[in-house]
Amino acid sequence: MTGTDIRELDARTVERIAAGEVVERPASVVKELVENALDAGASRVAVAVEDGGTGGVTVRDDGHGMTEVDVRASVREHTTSKIRDVDDLEAGVSTLGFRGEALHTIGAVSRMTIRTRPHDAETGTELVYAGGEVESVSEVGCPAGTTIDVEDLFYNTPAREKYLKTTPTEFAHVNRVVRSYALANPDVAVSLEHDGREVFATPGRGDRLATVMAVYGREVAEAMHAVDDVDVPEGPLDDVHGLVSDPETNRSAREYVSVFVNGRAVSASAVREAVIEAYGGQLDADRYPFTALFLDVPAGDVDVNVHPRKMEVRFADEAAMKRQVRAAVEETLLDAGLVRSSAPRG
Ligand code: ADP
Ligand code: MG
Repeated sequence: MTGTDIRELDARTVERIAAGEVVERPASVVKELVENALDAGASRVAVAVEDGGTGGVTVRDDGHGMTEVDVRASVREHTTSKIRDVDDLEAGVSTLGFRGEALHTIGAVSRMTIRTRPHDAETGTELVYAGGEVESVSEVGCPAGTTIDVEDLFYNTPAREKYLKTTPTEFAHVNRVVRSYALANPDVAVSLEHDGREVFATPGRGDRLATVMAVYGREVAEAMHAVDDVDVPEGPLDDVHGLVSDPETNRSAREYVSVFVNGRAVSASAVREAVIEAYGGQLDADRYPFTALFLDVPAGDVDVNVHPRKMEVRFADEAAMKRQVRAAVEETLLDAGLVRSSAPRG
């Protein structure tokens, strides 16, 4: 009998496989670049995509920028300015990124141009990185902050390229990602452009309702009620606040129930269930209200060291968390006279 032939993969192959884990589609590129912009303390983040992102992605920010030394380091594997070691990781990470793999990985499957300048520097640096190699580094004049252009995505991974869907589908993913960061960061002016046309632009003045108006339009904004200063029962959450819509202002997609845990967008089916329950049967089956709900959990009680693409969060005491969310939303809807109390609460 012949044995199996087990061999070690070469580094380039390993890298290509790993890249597919982080960069699945244009929306994953957008997510990583927007997170980097927010981590850089940007007050403006402008996203522009062509053909749903398959034709190119540009993210421009006015964050702290990078020196030439920093930008050269930023595209290397496992290089980050955000954590130093495992102790930092254990203490709890407050930045959106920390793995130090996004720029390296995006650059391995595309042609990426970074233009960046720290606010106190006279000139900036342009670094071109393609197929996993630094192609050129030069001094350029550019605005303070960072602009990253990603072109020819997946040119060297044809199998991945084939897997991409139509422009509208890819754009829907991009839109969902940018919308979510815009809602989570009302103090940052976030804009999205598709094929040269503005899709939305938030004012970035810290007003949650104005942000919802920019993202979803006037009709939805006018149907929103503030979840504010509500008494929630004991449980894992320190606080629940945000905005929820009238029951009549609903959609058939659950993505409109936006939930953020400590400012991070999460997909928490348990939270969504609690929200739906709070509407007490006022919603038809498979209809979802608009929400932008912010849950505050004590630092250290949520594990962020999950897979980069999974946004699912788990709570130790899920039942208690659900009671808190449900009570907060229910009280808001009751106060607005939108639902009748179904059962005595307590
Ligand atoms: P991570 O975000 O996990 O640190 P990345 O590969 O996404 O890893 O980025 C590597 C490093 O490059 C970051 O830690 C940061 O120092 C720097 N960087 C990336 N994007 C920006 C940006 N838009 N502005 C300033 N610095 C950035
Ligand atoms: Mg990052």
